[in-house]
Amino acid sequence: SKQAYIRSKPHLNIGTMGHVDHGKTTLTAAITKVLADRGTGSFVPFDRIDRAPEELRRGITITIAHVEYETDTRHYAHVDMPGHADYVKNMITGAAQLDGAILVVSALDGVMPQTAEHVLLARQVGVRHIVVALNKADAGDEELTDLVELEVRELLTAHGFDGDVLPVVRVSGLRALEGDPRWTAAIEALLDAVDTYVPVPERYVDAPFLLSVENVLTITGRGTVVTGAVERGTVRPGASVEVHRGEGEQLASVVTGLETFGKPMEFAQAGDNVALLLRGVQRGQVRRGDIVAAPGSISAHAGFTARVYLVPAAEGGRHTPIATGYRPQFYIRTADVVGDVDLGAVAMALPGDTVDLAVTLARPLPLEPGLGFAIREGGRTVGAGTVRSVR
Ligand code: GDP
Ligand code: MG
Repeated sequence: SKQAYIRSKPHLNIGTMGHVDHGKTTLTAAITKVLADRGTGSFVPFDRIDRAPEELRRGITITIAHVEYETDTRHYAHVDMPGHADYVKNMITGAAQLDGAILVVSALDGVMPQTAEHVLLARQVGVRHIVVALNKADAGDEELTDLVELEVRELLTAHGFDGDVLPVVRVSGLRALEGDPRWTAAIEALLDAVDTYVPVPERYVDAPFLLSVENVLTITGRGTVVTGAVERGTVRPGASVEVHRGEGEQLASVVTGLETFGKPMEFAQAGDNVALLLRGVQRGQVRRGDIVAAPGSISAHAGFTARVYLVPAAEGGRHTPIATGYRPQFYIRTADVVGDVDLGAVAMALPGDTVDLAVTLARPLPLEPGLGFAIREGGRTVGAGTVRSVR
């Protein structure tokens, strides 16, 4: 039978962010290799992370690769995205769950547009702790790398992070993957920096259970499984839950199975990445973006007010102002819904502005003040905001 998940260390969710080709996936593979050699994880090769063949076989579109590992003091779930669009579209809302991030910057190239966009989005979704991996340090010139470090610290400071003090570690994912001792030690130093700099967050374990569905799969003979990160509360096998569907309908169900990374769990709590087996739910009845929650604990709303930061054109945002009647996509938790914007008395708002506005979504979603979201249009992130009130 399967080995059970033993909760012996605090669990944290982290992830790699950064510009395409700066080495996020190579670094992710290198981390698993270094920890596998230490005996506290299993090696996950580059191809498994970047292509996730198992999931492709099940016919699921891959948007996020999760790997799991342990350091001496913590258990981590680590996410890596295949591409920038996946990162933004699928991570942003899920990134609200990230307790910390590893910003990967190539020492050869420095800060690039996606580096800046990921830093901005991390800030907007509430990531407070970033550790920088200056990657490809094996190929970089030391003085140039010093300049890149300054540039990254400045970027982070400009976005409200503690750019002067946060750890910046020079690494080579590629050389560590090859077993080079110097660069293996650099990965160890990076992990130590994550262990010490990213605090164990306060978990909302006493709140009613809530999970936003990331993926849905069917296990023949067993039923429908939903996966995602527990946003708050705890859940056990046998628990009654409600599935809040996109159309504002609810479905009563019972959790009949609970796993993390293929290991059965006695209970899951806020911060855990889990798979829930739901009794009596058909595959077509639940989809990405739906919410599974404790019965009676949440309500859906189509209307809300928000404070929104419009991304400047120089950072990939719009080049023109927005006005009442603007109709972009709203990425809220794992859902993606079109919404009508009303600016009220203000005639228009410019990229770079922070504005208060009202939104009417095309379908109701469970919403509450304080919830973060991203605004997207034509494949770009043009805004990020926080819900202020619901109606
Ligand atoms: P991602 O798009 O950020 O996930 O980047 P990848 O991990 O796919 O790496 C992009 C390219 O950079 C690949 O050709 C890697 O072999 C190369 N690369 C990654 N890490 C390093 C490194 O530490 N040193 C050098 N020299 N090349 C690297
Ligand atoms: Mg990659």
